[in-house]
Amino acid sequence: MTGRMLLAGNWKMNGLRTSLAELRALSRALSDEPSPHQVLVCPPATLICEAAKAVEGTRVGVGGQDCHAEASGAFTGEISAEMLRDAGANHVIVGHSERRQYHGETNAAVSAKVLAAKRAGLIAIVCVGETDAERVSGKAVRVVSKQLDESLPDGIAAGEFALAYEPVWAIGTGKTPTNDQIAEMHDMIHERLAARCGGEGLRVLYGGSVKPSNAGEILAIDHVDGALVGGASLKAGDFLAIIRAAPAGKSVR
Ligand code: PEP
Repeated sequence: MTGRMLLAGNWKMNGLRTSLAELRALSRALSDEPSPHQVLVCPPATLICEAAKAVEGTRVGVGGQDCHAEASGAFTGEISAEMLRDAGANHVIVGHSERRQYHGETNAAVSAKVLAAKRAGLIAIVCVGETDAERVSGKAVRVVSKQLDESLPDGIAAGEFALAYEPVWAIGTGKTPTNDQIAEMHDMIHERLAARCGGEGLRVLYGGSVKPSNAGEILAIDHVDGALVGGASLKAGDFLAIIRAAPAGKSVR
């Protein structure tokens, strides 16, 4: 099967209601020049409902940035996958390195969130990636393999999630791996996930300092099936330039 690449924006803890003007500008521009690829914006939870209304009828999707594993209950401050879905989301990011780092999320916790997303009918974007120290000491492939094995629940099919390879040292730093380093990791991830989950619909995104000036080169790398974009997704113009840089003829195997 072939499919579309996924260009996803992670606004992190940025954005007030006025920021939805960026989302409207993005979906307006895309409706004039349809790209073959799928576009997603993950704003803070406070904006999901309005964001979903703003993009209704367009091909821009809306996602959450995290969810709780349970559907409901006494978990003050948490948001469930069902709530995200009810608010208009169709995707949710889980296991972002900032959640792993600042909230102590383990691979097992991430796996439970992937199951929650599936239960609620959301596509999970599951993040993995090595730290600088792990890369320097030659452990990057081993670390990412373990995260892959443990962050995905048994029985999940390739079309039910997307994987985002995000080297921690590249997030928000302006540094990116070399094309060879990205290719090595994406080849390994594709091979490992295809063996476990089937290859159909499998999408492996790259994330970490993607910007208009490097997007074309990164998105052209074999087995890079899209991008997860932080800072550069906040401005419609920059995110559009990244979306436009995705090779039109490239499809997901
Ligand atoms: C991210 O937050 O997932 C990310 C990749 O951030 P940035 O693009 O800003 O490095």
